[in-house]
Amino acid sequence: MEGMPPFSSVNQMFEVPRLRNILAAYGFSLLDYRTCKGVLSDTLTARGLSPEAFFTNSFEAHLSPEDAAKMRQSIQGLPASPTGKTSNQFRFINQETGNESWILMDFELFLAGEDGKPAIMLIHDQDVSELIKAQEEIRERLVEIESLKDLVLSINKSLDFNETSRKIIEHLHRILPFDRATVQVLEGTNLHVIDSYGYPEDAVMGMTFPASNIDNPARRAITTRRPIICNDVEHDFDGFVQIPGVAPTRSWLGIPLVYEGKTIGMFALDSREQHFYKDQHTRIASGVADQIAMAVAHSLQHSKIKEEALKDKLTGAANRYGLETVGQSMFSAVQKEEQSLGVLMLDIDHFKQVNDTWGHAYGDLVLKSLVSAVNRSLRADDYLVRYGGEEFLILLPKATSREALVVAERLRQAIPQVEVIPGRTCPTVSIGIFAGIPGPLDQLHEFIQKADLGLYEAKESGRNRCRVWRANPEFFDKGNKNLIL
Ligand code: GH3
Ligand code: MG
Ligand code: MG
Repeated sequence: MEGMPPFSSVNQMFEVPRLRNILAAYGFSLLDYRTCKGVLSDTLTARGLSPEAFFTNSFEAHLSPEDAAKMRQSIQGLPASPTGKTSNQFRFINQETGNESWILMDFELFLAGEDGKPAIMLIHDQDVSELIKAQEEIRERLVEIESLKDLVLSINKSLDFNETSRKIIEHLHRILPFDRATVQVLEGTNLHVIDSYGYPEDAVMGMTFPASNIDNPARRAITTRRPIICNDVEHDFDGFVQIPGVAPTRSWLGIPLVYEGKTIGMFALDSREQHFYKDQHTRIASGVADQIAMAVAHSLQHSKIKEEALKDKLTGAANRYGLETVGQSMFSAVQKEEQSLGVLMLDIDHFKQVNDTWGHAYGDLVLKSLVSAVNRSLRADDYLVRYGGEEFLILLPKATSREALVVAERLRQAIPQVEVIPGRTCPTVSIGIFAGIPGPLDQLHEFIQKADLGLYEAKESGRNRCRVWRANPEFFDKGNKNLIL
């Protein structure tokens, strides 16, 4: 404690009224151990403390419970401290408003000259609430920046929409609170839900919400192109659509997805609590919106390209690649479930002549008309593939031989009725059929081969007919009695 001014001069400074006021205004307090009295700084006086409070420990009522013990230690431990100084931050609670403020306090002890006992405690205080708030904000921002970095890194790795969407939701959860979320794409003037989180399965998937002609928060987010919060949706927006069967949404945060200047959709986060979202949440959402939009746009584009890659350009039916992927998984599914699979191989009769007579462009039109007609007549689970030029393969999951034949026969009769252009209809077709429950070692191409042999037989026996392949050695003999039709 060397180098300190004598305690008496410290004491004297506080005895001059003008000087005392200046010292108090600058955050200095003086406590006299011998009289248990003193002078407090304006900061401490404003918080309702008296000098006596420091000798009776009644300052505790002004502090947060965690910090009361810290203050006691600082004061009691001061006489024993080798430097005679100590410093700490304390959270003071305003007893009327309950507001917190952080005060940094430096304590310094002056000893009595003759007996060496503690004589005066000088305290300097400073309100550091703003500083601490700023530090906390910086810490929060760092977490946000870190999460954004993580988000960018992880979503850039994936091009699959579902994976991307799941990763985005996962990351958003780290920086934004929500009970449930939906990913919606803008289709015309409607928002269409393509992914969801926190909802029971199928509760919202595929739902469509209007994004125009109605005042709902989604429309507002989309038109302003900025994240918006709404903390009492039903009161604020008549047009808010609640999802049946789940606890109603009370607070809502919409993050519009704007990519290359175009609004492509929205992430909607919601909470079951009212007045849940704060301005800081809008700020965080704004910070991540562009990255999310880019990831969603890329993954949707990728999905579209992937889907297109499975389709034949001319007719829109699946192509061979589609057969290898989707068709193969359909085969594996029936194989696993030990269900039957019907396979039809359909070929247009004398198609060469159609081209030769009416031209190739007309031939193309025939192919398109035929595909539309077949699609109209098939079930949603059936799969139509353009197998070759004018040869089509149709997979009929769960269809038995009999059922597959019924479908084939229906197509055979319907196709020649299909108008390609007014007054001109599609040519006839021949169809080979095979159906059965695939065994564990069976393969799709074997099923296709058998349907193809059926087709060969149908052509051989005069065209415009259906033939079911049978496991009969005489099958290939002309005039086989086991062939149906
Ligand atoms: P069959 O009854 O034996 O099946 O006789 P076909 O004339 O239909 O058989 P073929 O295999 O000899 O001829 C198929 C024709 O299909 C030949 C080809 O020019 C035509 N073709 C294949 N792909 C297309 C296409 O994309 N557009 C058009 N317009 N014609 C195509
Ligand atoms: Mg043909
Ligand atoms: Mg052919």
